[in-house]
Amino acid sequence: MSDPSHITYTENLQKFLRLPQGGKLIAEYIWIDSEGGVRSKSRTLDEKETPYVPAELPMWNFDGSSTGQAPGENSDVYLQPVAVFPDPFRGAPNILVLAECLNSDGTPNKYNHRHECAKLMEAHAEHKPWFGLEQEYTLLDLNDRPYGWPKNGYPAPQGPYYCGVGAGKVVMRDIVEAHYKCCLYAGVKISGTNAEVMPAQWEYQVGPCEGIEMGDHLWISRFLLHRVAEEFGAKVSFDPKPIPGDWNGAGLHSNFSTKEMREEGGMKHIEAAIKKLEGRHAEHIAVYGEGNEKRLTGRHETGSIDTFSYGVANRGASIRIPRECAAKGYGYFEDRRPASNADPYQITGIIMETCFGAVSE
Ligand code: ADP
Ligand code: MN
Ligand code: MN
Ligand code: MN
Ligand code: MN
Repeated sequence: MSDPSHITYTENLQKFLRLPQGGKLIAEYIWIDSEGGVRSKSRTLDEKETPYVPAELPMWNFDGSSTGQAPGENSDVYLQPVAVFPDPFRGAPNILVLAECLNSDGTPNKYNHRHECAKLMEAHAEHKPWFGLEQEYTLLDLNDRPYGWPKNGYPAPQGPYYCGVGAGKVVMRDIVEAHYKCCLYAGVKISGTNAEVMPAQWEYQVGPCEGIEMGDHLWISRFLLHRVAEEFGAKVSFDPKPIPGDWNGAGLHSNFSTKEMREEGGMKHIEAAIKKLEGRHAEHIAVYGEGNEKRLTGRHETGSIDTFSYGVANRGASIRIPRECAAKGYGYFEDRRPASNADPYQITGIIMETCFGAVSE
């Protein structure tokens, strides 16, 4: 913010943002790229009396050869609108449009994990699957150094930073606050936020969301975070182990329940699901994020990447049953394995597949 290489004129921008739009709106089409990032571009649509739903929005396309999503000689990737949100940056009537990427022959693009996830959610919808994801992330300066860390060296050891209050304990709270408000405005089901164990690391939670909505809302929340941080001149890192050594990594704890688990006697359904997860540990780890082996060491509140474990209130296990749920005998469980950079469609998809079976073509 005080970095002279980063100058924005947000105040000057305000008077332009207030100008009438002549019956038009701006739709920001957002998609997931080949590196787990988000990309977006804008187009003009007619303003309508009623809010746009995905089926009313035009398909679009982009140059996939510029994003590593298609070869140069057949570069068009189609954007299929799948969810719409109010745009907190431009305000009403402007919208954010989450889109799935399709190849020119209509098949899902290699990095489109939503397609498969949506099929699994639909096939097993009667279980009313709820998810709540805890997105951890680290704020970096433009030189890729965690914000507020000394130029040469390290901050004092972990301890005062988790849920910290006060100068020297937390940094960039403005970004966290702005992002929270953006999520609420956009209708993203953000459920809370807290400063994390490593300085410059934060978490927010999204959920409970049912079915495919989990991935949709988490991806839009990530877009909003990158976009807010851009205005403050900060970078968002979803690296699962941004700083080696005695510094906590970053995860995407995934809380899960079904209708049966949430009812009286639900614990037997929770235990049955955990047994199934145990049998497919390696398959889950394979889609739970890149570089996760640096984080899942069995230290720093993680279970080891090689062994599956579970326990009540155990933050060193793969799966934690919250104390309150164990006491009540029903509720949900927490899969602590996913890394901060994992794709929520892949996480929620494989949990459904493991618990209820694959879907045939
Ligand atoms: P932790 O104690 O692990 O830090 P958090 O409070 O950060 O837990 O996150 C808990 C998450 O669990 C929230 O996203 C919340 O929406 C979600 N959650 C709560 N109840 C359920 C449920 N029945 N099914 C699925 N997710 C749930
Ligand atoms: Mn062009
Ligand atoms: Mn949490
Ligand atoms: Mn956390
Ligand atoms: Mn957690």
